Amino acid sequence: MAPYRIAVIGLGKIAQDQHLPVIAANPGFELAAVVSQRGLGVPGVPTFRTPAELYAAVPDLVAVSVCTPPDARTAIAREALDAGKHVLLEKPPATTLSEVEALTAVAGRRQRLLFATWHSRFNPAVAEARRLLEGRTIRRLDVQWKEDVRHWHPGQDWVWQAGGFGVFDPGINALSIVTEIVPSPLSVAKADLTFPSNSDTPIAATLAFTCLEGPEEASLSASFDWRQEGEQTWTIEIETADGTLLALHEGGTRLVINGEPGVSAPSEEYQRIYAHWAELLAAGRSDVDVAPLRLVADAFLVGRRHDTAAFHW
Ligand code: NAP
Repeated sequence: MAPYRIAVIGLGKIAQDQHLPVIAANPGFELAAVVSQRGLGVPGVPTFRTPAELYAAVPDLVAVSVCTPPDARTAIAREALDAGKHVLLEKPPATTLSEVEALTAVAGRRQRLLFATWHSRFNPAVAEARRLLEGRTIRRLDVQWKEDVRHWHPGQDWVWQAGGFGVFDPGINALSIVTEIVPSPLSVAKADLTFPSNSDTPIAATLAFTCLEGPEEASLSASFDWRQEGEQTWTIEIETADGTLLALHEGGTRLVINGEPGVSAPSEEYQRIYAHWAELLAAGRSDVDVAPLRLVADAFLVGRRHDTAAFHW
């Protein structure tokens, strides 16, 4: 079968670190073009400054990957669907739940596919944790997601602007795993959000969840912090009512079961994302799950604001 001709829109950090090399290595896809406001390019393929120029010049384009910050994503995805393209969305799929709902409706009307990626889910250790938790009652959930924003997002001012998600930009990765592996739906009961005095978005957050289908005494919490220097922490611990203890470490790549090593594999999240995208395209199916975004929306709705010192790069 001919490879799917795809274009990448927004040549920032994640496009360059993951999307471009992973597309180049996947025979199911052919990079047809890129769109870069700054005019960045990839050898051998044309660069366009706007998606409209791309769609006019490359009519046999099948799909686009939208790798911009979230606030630009919905308009770009809408334009792509209107141009008849299938659309892969970086995470989070949009800034609001309403936008995702609207995009899903447009995709349905246009009979085009939408794939809202959650890269942290694409780990064998996450799939195994999900399997082990099936049918079990959760007694304790403890998420610790603490990293250094200066290392991972150098100079990305959009993360501090309204709609930029702040610490929920990485935190939503943890929530994407939690919503994948915890068998019953969670909601946020309480949130403490810490905002730098010069920022629209929080630099730290602690969340307490409730599970309406779980035991009342369950302790379900998450702590996100973007001020962690030195060793970085991306850990999810879960204890079930029957005494099983699961710990996912290193962003979902390593699972420990009752203190013993379980599934562990190097991160190949984007290779798996594009393998799944090829399957969706072949099957004519979309894959859109808003559960992680819904928990972030919950946190902003019930969150209590705390102020802290101004943030400077
Ligand atoms: P980034 O380095 O700031 O890159 C985003 C790029 O999008 C910019 O370099 C720019 O590229 C383009 N862009 C920016 N504003 C735009 C606008 N208003 N309209 C159209 N294009 C615009 O950000 P990133 O780290 O790659 O993150 C992008 C998304 O990927 C975020 O949602 C993030 O959560 C997600 N993500 C990031 C990482 C990571 O490690 N950084 C990991 C997983 C997921 P051009 O100048 O080339 O157009």
